[in-house]
Amino acid sequence: MLTINNLHKQFDDLVVLDGIDLDVEKGNVIVVVGPSGSGKTTLLRCLNILETPNQGVMQINDQTLDFSNKVTKKQVQAFRKQTGMVFQTYNLFPHKTAIENVMEGPVIVKKMNKKQAYEQAKRLLEKVGLADKIDYYPFQLSGGQQQRVGIARALAMDPEVMLFDEPTSALDPELIGEVLNAMKELADEGMTMVVVTHEMGFAREVADEVLFMEGGHIVERGHPEEIFSNPKHERTAQFLNLIK
Ligand code: ATP
Repeated sequence: MLTINNLHKQFDDLVVLDGIDLDVEKGNVIVVVGPSGSGKTTLLRCLNILETPNQGVMQINDQTLDFSNKVTKKQVQAFRKQTGMVFQTYNLFPHKTAIENVMEGPVIVKKMNKKQAYEQAKRLLEKVGLADKIDYYPFQLSGGQQQRVGIARALAMDPEVMLFDEPTSALDPELIGEVLNAMKELADEGMTMVVVTHEMGFAREVADEVLFMEGGHIVERGHPEEIFSNPKHERTAQFLNLIK
């Protein structure tokens, strides 16, 4: 359902993605690992078109963007709607409550009526375990709770694929579990997910496939058990030894 062919991205002379090929089946969870600077975040940002690739083709269901041709704004908007992104920092609107943050996208972008958006947001906040916090402002919430609002906000746009960019790396250790649990539940419900994380326990337990990236390439990919117990490339083994 998600396919990437020969994706390239460079910033001036710096080649950050150097021909990425990837296919993700519906309902699968892909965990992306790799050293700092290997291009993991850039890959996710390209999938959400926060960065424009220099070359390559990306496809989600019937939406295709081919960057060797001119890509229109309308095509970008249609493609972006297929993905929901959860960032390392939660970027919630500070002057809006949890439920207002979750309603914002559907009301403003999708022109959903407010009552319907409210009901949906309430359901999504309940789903991420925040039923009793819907009227709280971000400053009244812990980092883990804010990140769960961030997940509900992304889900409110009804994406086909959820993209997570190190969603727990800004959190205190005791708050990481609640966010990973919300993500695990989402995976159990069949959401297609691409997750950049250093949480190897999550990767082992939840991922259908782990990708190891380095230097803008996918060096190795495979089932977590295979990658963790029997990596084929020396670089994968070295990296995994470092972060264990
Ligand atoms: P980390 O684990 O540290 O987050 P990463 O694997 O996610 O790293 P990216 O954030 O994708 O790596 O960055 C890859 C390279 O691209 C880095 O060298 C970074 O400095 C560079 N880069 C990323 N964004 C930009 C930008 N907007 N302009 C210039 N260079 C950039």
